[in-house]
Order: sequence, then structure tokens, then C-alpha cells
Amino acid sequence: PAANAHQFPLLIKHLLLSGSRYEKDREIVYRDQVRYSYTTFNERVARLANVLKQAGVKAGDTVAVMDWDSHRYLECMFAVPMVGAVLHTINIRLSPEQILYTMNHAEDRFVLVNSDFVPLYQGIAEHLTSVTGTLLLTDGSDTRAELPGLVGEYESLLASASPAYDFADFDENSVATTFYTTGTTGNPKGVYFTHRQLVLHTLSLACTVGSLDSIRLMGSDDVYMPITPMFHVHAWGVPYVATLLGGKQVYPGRYEPDMLCGLIRDEGVTFSHCVPTILQMLLSAPNSQGHDFNGLKMIIGGSALNRASYEAAKARGIQLTAAYGMSETCPLISCAYLNDELLAGSEDQQITYRIKAGIPVPLVEAAIMDADGNRLAADGESQGELVVRAPWLTQGYYREPEKSEELWADGWLHTGDVATLDGMGFIDIRDRIKDVIKTGGEWISSLELEDLISRHPAVSEVAVVGVADAQWGERPFALVVARQGQALNARLLKEHLAPFVEQGRINKWAIPTHVALVTEIPKTSVGKLDKKRIRVDIVQWQAA
Ligand code: ADP
Repeated sequence: PAANAHQFPLLIKHLLLSGSRYEKDREIVYRDQVRYSYTTFNERVARLANVLKQAGVKAGDTVAVMDWDSHRYLECMFAVPMVGAVLHTINIRLSPEQILYTMNHAEDRFVLVNSDFVPLYQGIAEHLTSVTGTLLLTDGSDTRAELPGLVGEYESLLASASPAYDFADFDENSVATTFYTTGTTGNPKGVYFTHRQLVLHTLSLACTVGSLDSIRLMGSDDVYMPITPMFHVHAWGVPYVATLLGGKQVYPGRYEPDMLCGLIRDEGVTFSHCVPTILQMLLSAPNSQGHDFNGLKMIIGGSALNRASYEAAKARGIQLTAAYGMSETCPLISCAYLNDELLAGSEDQQITYRIKAGIPVPLVEAAIMDADGNRLAADGESQGELVVRAPWLTQGYYREPEKSEELWADGWLHTGDVATLDGMGFIDIRDRIKDVIKTGGEWISSLELEDLISRHPAVSEVAVVGVADAQWGERPFALVVARQGQALNARLLKEHLAPFVEQGRINKWAIPTHVALVTEIPKTSVGKLDKKRIRVDIVQWQAA
């Protein structure tokens, strides 16, 4: 035997191959259009690998995808890295200029384009510097498209390719995926993950959703559907877990509230995940009114989960659990876990812990640090920057040595979030460092204010940012969207916040000086409050 035969490489192919042993007949569903078994799924991954090889894709090449959430995307998440190429999941919600920037920066060789994005692609095609071939993805019957370097249409190519492929072993440290952070400041930054990292992330996430805590979030008998785009941190890596477990998977394509609600009901979806604003959209969708979600379990992450959303979801039959992570961390860092002691406590206390950012998941280390790199006490009081270590954190930002060094200062990955850690291990995210409001020497958490304001029954959405103030440095400014037909104004909000000041929950400086009633709050490409845009737009709100 070879001397290193015992060194089994951790490769993405093993997630597919071992998962598919369990339930060969379980289905993978795409909207109301496609459904097939795991057996077919395996064959299609092999067919796609053959198509990529015939198109000239070599190990180390970057293969990009522009698609909504689909079964084809899932096939790319396996086939592309399994042939040794790097999967670039393009954030289709960025501006065309930013998409172009990311594609050239990542040196994309080959691009799979959904017919919906053909016009966008045509608009940037002449400025693309590394692409040599394209492939069309379509739900329609028209398999032609004016795409430069078009090799063909996905389904016809798959149909004529062999359903067998001998996936070779290679170095587990080969890069498997890359994508770009949403670029809240400057150009988007590329993060990247190796096979080894994704396999370890999948195992830890599977353990977290499958067996930790009293709520089993997802096992192989659950029905999974993502509502976090596959282009954004691999839909938080959950499709890899669902495949490993052999569970039924449902892909909703473009996110349309009616389609999402219909699939949840008709396909019997039991587990999903999203950011709070998408949850809001789901709950207020006309098609979902009067619909009981029947025990649907959801992980909410990407932004703080507030109590009002937790309770609104519960009233509709959705059980929420908070988790925390970021693009740079693959993304999973922590997830709510209620131990025996907490489960014995009041329901009110249980909710308090369900909506915090959670406890670090297996293999993750977390600490808080002051600005000089000193570790602070895990006493639930001391606030500092949350720093983390884990086997699946990006090594840096692709071709950005300075920013990578900052990210990894002192040997820990710096999250840019202010947090506390308590004796039970719970992380409580107080705010992003750049969003903390500094008023007259006090630090106010914009997240906490948003949580308290959102508890007012007439508030449907809220964002709080600091605005420059000659006397205090900064003052909190609240943008609120009122629920339909409900009265809301600055005075009512001040009255609502007063008891929290009396209870010592916030100090009186935290009461926003300015409150603007708006019909909509700007969101980022992944549906989070866009505080950068809000700060720019605030001039207009201030004037109003
Ligand atoms: P972006 O920075 O563009 O929003 P990410 O998806 O990487 O892209 O966002 C990561 C950030 O989201 C974290 O640094 C944190 O500020 C925020 N976040 C994620 N999960 C939570 C959570 N459970 N509670 C509070 N904030 C969260």
C-alpha cells in the first residue's frame, strides 16, 4: 500500500457520495417544475463534470454561476469543486459594475448564466478579461442565447453526457469556492474556502442542526428549503448538510413570496433559514395570511433577531433559532443552544437566549478583545471586538494582502462586531463597530434601540443610525415604517422608550432626537438594513 494511504483527504465528493447512501429515492425539487431522486442527482453531477471537462475546464480554473436558487446551482456546488475547479457564486444583486469587478478580480474562466441574466451579462461581456466560455441555464424551451463563447444549454449538454465520472482524489487544501462580500465600503472583497474547510464546516453544522439543543432543526427526515441565496455564503452551507443527510431539498428559484409560501405548504418544508427582513416579507405576504406554518423551524442570522419578530413568527407556527456568522467565516460561528438549566426556566427567559447570537458551535473558539489586543473577561458585561478561530475561516481576502493582515491581526479573525460573552458561552452581538452611536462619551447600541423600538405595536420596521451633532458628537436617528393604518410619531416612540430608561435598560441619551416616518428602509443586496445608504440618504430625511 502507498505510504500515505491512511491520509484520507477531506473532499466535497465525500459529502455527496456518503450522503447518497441513505435515501436514494428522496427528492430534490425545483419550484413547481422539476423533481428527481438522489440517484438522478448523483448522475447529473457526473454528467455536469463531463460537460465541464469537455468544455475545457481544468483543475484550478474558476467557474462562475449566475443563477437564482435552483437544483442546477446545487449540482454546480458539487460538480465544479469535485473536478478540482473553483466555484465562484456571483452575487447577482450587486450593481453590474460590481459584478464585473468581481468576475475580473476572481479571474472567472467559465460562466453559467441563467437566461434572466443574459441581458446583464451582455452589458458587461466586452469588459470581461478572463472568460473563455459560457453555458446557458434556462427553464424555458428556447435553448439559444446571444452569449459570447456559448458552449451550449445546460440540459441538452447534460442529456448527451455520460452519467459516470471517476472523481479523483487531490489535495484537500485546494480552493473549492469563492465569493465576494457585499461591499458595504469600497470594492467587494473576495473570500475563499478549501475542500477541507467546507467538509469540516458541513460536519459541524450538521451536528449543530441535527443533534444539539432540544429542537432538532434538521435531520434526514426533514424537508429543507433555503431562503438565503445560494450565492451568499453557499446558502450558509446548509445545502451541503442536507445532501450529506440525504434529506428532501426544495429550491425556490427567484424569491417570490407566493412561490415560497406555496412550496412550504405543498412540499411540506420543515426547515429553512433567512435574514430577518425576508422573514418579515414571508409573514406579510398576501398569500401567507391565515396560513399556519405548522411548526416550520428556521434559523435566523445575518442580522440581530428581535423579540417582536420571534413572537410574530411563533404566532404563525414558526419556531425561530438565532445563529451568527459572516461571509469571512463560511459562515457558521454560533447558534442558540438552550441547556437544561435554561429549559427549566421561564418561557420569557428562554426567548431571551433563543434570540441571542448563540454559543460557538463545535470546533469554534471565540473571545472578545479590546483595541490593544487584550482579551476581556467573559462576564456578560465587558464589551469588546468579537474575534474567532475555527478550521473554516477564510485565509484572507483574495489578492488584498493589507486587508487580510488586518482581518487576521493577533492570530484571530476580527469580526468587526462589538459583543459580550457570558459565563454560559453565549455571544451577545451589541453592534457593528462602525454602527455604534457615540453620544457625549456614551456608547449606544443601534441594535438594542432597534429591538426596543420594534416592540411598539405600530412599528413594522426600524433602523437607527448615528448622525453628526455639534454638541454631542453623534445623536441617534430612527427611521421607522408604521404598520398599515396605525398612528406613529416621535412623541409616541419617546413615550414607548421612557419605561426602558426607568428600568435602566438604556440611558436617557439613547432616546432618538430625530424620528422620520418612511415607507421603506434601504436594504443591501442580501436584504439587510443598508446603514451606509441610510447615512447618505439621511440628509433627505432630515430635511423632510
Ligand atoms: P455584510 O457584512 O455585507 O452584511 P455578512 O453576511 O458577512 O455581510 O454579514 C456579517 C455580519 O452580519 C456580522 O459581522 C454581524 O454584524 C451581522 N450578523 C450576523 N449574524 C448576526 C446575529 N445573529 N446577530 C447580530 N448580527 C449578526
